[in-house]
Amino acid sequence: MPHQPPPPPSGPFRLVKQSMSPRALLLDLDGVLLDTRPVMEVAWQEVRSAHGLDIPFASYERYLGREFGDIMQRLGVADGEAVRRTYEAKAVAASHLAQEFPGVSEMLHDFVAAGWRLGVVTSKHIDRAAPLLGRFDCHFATVRTPAGLGRAKPAPDPILLALVDLGVDPAAAVYVGDMAVDRESAARAGIAYIHAGWGYGQPSSPAPEIAGSPEELLQLLCSAEPFVEGSLV
Ligand SMILES: [Mg+2]
Repeated sequence: MPHQPPPPPSGPFRLVKQSMSPRALLLDLDGVLLDTRPVMEVAWQEVRSAHGLDIPFASYERYLGREFGDIMQRLGVADGEAVRRTYEAKAVAASHLAQEFPGVSEMLHDFVAAGWRLGVVTSKHIDRAAPLLGRFDCHFATVRTPAGLGRAKPAPDPILLALVDLGVDPAAAVYVGDMAVDRESAARAGIAYIHAGWGYGQPSSPAPEIAGSPEELLQLLCSAEPFVEGSLV
């Protein structure tokens, strides 16, 4: 007789086991945690004047979510590395223009309190991402950027590496982004995706699950938490 796997546990034991398994909330930075569009716009205008590029910000903005060099290639910019230096210097100088989206800090604290592990997966390089993330009074257990191993979004690499960092299965993780490349990266990594409706991009088709606000994201992921009798520890 072939081996039969044991039936899944039911009742309170199952619920306790579920609530004790680690879950990961991975977040994009630009357009999800912080409104960095004013910084990007100022930095791009600097690039235009310093390098004589006749490329409007709207064209740059179409490719948000991708690594800077990838965007330069798509825009047909020949001297991408020189442009990158100009852009990054201006972006650092104008970083004070970045604003936290309302409700994000509170949401992050609530996820941590509910036992979630937090991570950031962004195409912004670590030297520009770190000071921005330092504004949050919150522990991000991993930050994956193009400075690390692997390919940048829309490849699955940074999401998979973040899950390795956190010790969380893809099935227990969610990525929250605002651009089509975010969704593609999550799909290729095999994890759930939620579109941040407060970000820059329109949800691609077919419509993904959408959170209209940080509060709604919390409700989507935490409201189904079961109550069980007694202590969980
Ligand atoms: Mg984004």
